[in-house]
Amino acid sequence: MMRTAHLSRLYLCMFLQKRNNMIPIIPDKIKDSFCSAKWLMATMHFGMGENHSCYHPPIHRWNLEDVKRDPSMLHNTTHKIEQRRQMMNGEKPKECYYCFDMEAINPDVISDRKRFTNEHYAIERRQELIDAPYDKHVNPSYLELSFSNVCNFGCSYCSPGQSSKWENEVRKYGSYPVEDPTVHADKMHDMIPEDDNPYIDAFWKWLPDAYKDLKYLRITGGEPLATRNFMKLLDFVATNHNPNLTLVVNTNLCVPDKNLNMFFEKATTLLNAKTIKGLEVYTSMDTWGPQAEYIRDGLDIARWEQTVRKVSTTFHVPIRVMVTFGLMSIFNFQTFVEKVIQMRSEGIDIMFNCARLVDPKQFDLRILPDYCDKYFTRMNTFIVDNGQIANVERETWQMVYDFWKARHDTMTPEDREWRREQFAKFISEYDKRRNKNFEENFPEITGWI
Ligand code: SF4
Repeated sequence: MMRTAHLSRLYLCMFLQKRNNMIPIIPDKIKDSFCSAKWLMATMHFGMGENHSCYHPPIHRWNLEDVKRDPSMLHNTTHKIEQRRQMMNGEKPKECYYCFDMEAINPDVISDRKRFTNEHYAIERRQELIDAPYDKHVNPSYLELSFSNVCNFGCSYCSPGQSSKWENEVRKYGSYPVEDPTVHADKMHDMIPEDDNPYIDAFWKWLPDAYKDLKYLRITGGEPLATRNFMKLLDFVATNHNPNLTLVVNTNLCVPDKNLNMFFEKATTLLNAKTIKGLEVYTSMDTWGPQAEYIRDGLDIARWEQTVRKVSTTFHVPIRVMVTFGLMSIFNFQTFVEKVIQMRSEGIDIMFNCARLVDPKQFDLRILPDYCDKYFTRMNTFIVDNGQIANVERETWQMVYDFWKARHDTMTPEDREWRREQFAKFISEYDKRRNKNFEENFPEITGWI
């Protein structure tokens, strides 16, 4: 029923674009391989010296000499240009399995590839991308930056590259006894300090040219509110006009008061300056209650809720909650959804969207025992029957639910069992190091690991 509604909307959109001749049609040869995110989206991890487009494929390293010579190669890397060549040749790049696997399960699914390609900023530039040689350097429309891995959280599915709390722990206690290399001491990056980072230097050189084409500038982490360059960027944006730009900040909303106050002060100056279209605050929450605090080590759920309210009353800006839906999210997810609905009823502009947690592999929700089906079915009924769920919430939940239902077709029993073992090993170590107790927090799956 829901999928029919989505498709109707997509077809209506395609019909209108044909009729009005307003939106360029993607040629048949590339319609199943083209993704504008490869041109228009970029995520840069300055602390690791790596980047990717979009944020699903694995990150790849910058070539420092390239970047020093031509800062636009922060985005137009040799690796990325090869992926663009494949897409323009009708090939599906292997690194984009996140989308192509989902489309193989269900060809009608609104994958991120289709979603990103039909974003308004991507439609505006579609003809330009189709007409240009695949190796032409372009400015992104959507740029996501991480200046450093400094963070006061150590979420279970995160890693030293994205969290200094994780980094310090692995340096102190060594690798986790799992195959995931991101939590191995000998695979850890030497993080480039924020104050002496040649890629950040190149970024500040590139920004004045890239800025005019940006529609979304999103700052992530680590925790952006703990970084000096984020504060510098707020000053830059407050003094440089781009009326089409939305500045987005991803924050855990649980930073020390000192950082939070500086953010409130600078964001107030920026909003008063009216140099950009708007500010949006993104934050993560994967379920609710102690289970959420177990998953995201460092989270204080009462403080998070309080700060959501403070952001809303101070700035009246949209607050978007990112749900990274792994195997621990389902049991209390309804309480979280009810909380969002309640906040909306109080006038807070808040919405969530779900992304499937597929990496690290041991957190994949498809490995849950089959008796957990009752939780997914119940949740789906709640979402489908509830008139207060926003479209994006319903659509992204639907992808999670489809993913769960397809578990036996998309994963072998051996793979599921291997992941369950990996999960058990991970959790045993996580509990020990973080002074937590999985069995107490997740009675729904007692005895499963
Ligand atoms: S195809 Fe999917 S994974 Fe690849 S760049 Fe596009 S949205 Fe990202």
